[in-house]
Amino acid sequence: MLAERLNEVNAAIAAAASKAGRDPAAVKLVAVTKTVGLDQIRQAIALGLHDFGENRLQEARAKVDAFPDQSWHFIGHLQTNKVKEVLPRFALIHSLDSFRLAEALQHWGERLDRYVNVLVQVNVAREKGKYGLDPGELPDFLTALRAMTRIKVRGLMAMAPWVEDPEEARPVFRGLRLLQQQCSVPDMQLEHLSMGMTNDYRVAVEEGATIVRVGTALFGPHG
Ligand SMILES: *Cc1c(COP(=O)(O)O)cnc(C)c1O
Repeated sequence: MLAERLNEVNAAIAAAASKAGRDPAAVKLVAVTKTVGLDQIRQAIALGLHDFGENRLQEARAKVDAFPDQSWHFIGHLQTNKVKEVLPRFALIHSLDSFRLAEALQHWGERLDRYVNVLVQVNVAREKGKYGLDPGELPDFLTALRAMTRIKVRGLMAMAPWVEDPEEARPVFRGLRLLQQQCSVPDMQLEHLSMGMTNDYRVAVEEGATIVRVGTALFGPHG
């Protein structure tokens, strides 16, 4: 039952926040609907959820267009040729991971006369073959983004490697928070940390996540 699962997730977020001396209201739950149909999204909305995450435009299109008043988060790798269609549909892009993508976002932001809210994805654990900036590249990257007037950097995003014991993900989340503290760029507020999924969101909240992206714990393994 979605209602019960949602209660459990909200309770776990509240417990993790209070353990860390944080306000649970400072953690936004993004319900990841990538395997989920319109009926379940409708139910989720009725239960008070308002933020939804999708990782591929092709799957997301019909859902976003069915529920355009919700706040949609683009959480997967974004190809530059999809930017034009993603911009009007998504409130926040969690996965800015290259300069080329930034240029495309700036270009289409100008063309469509929109501002683009983004998080910069960081490959904190420096995993081979994974998306995200190397932590060492982040300061120069953020500085370069200052010149891109259509891009509004709102924070950082990371994915931890999958591990059996979520405690092992803690250094990744702590690392992202340290980067947030260390990277100070004029006129840029890195207020958000998007980190934590079903397996590890409790640890992420303890380490300062302001956005958790949870799918399976809400909708089950197959939606
Ligand atoms: C699928 C996905 C999630 C949610 O994963 P669950 O383990 O189902 O909670 C979070 N973030 C990203 C980027 C995803 O692709």
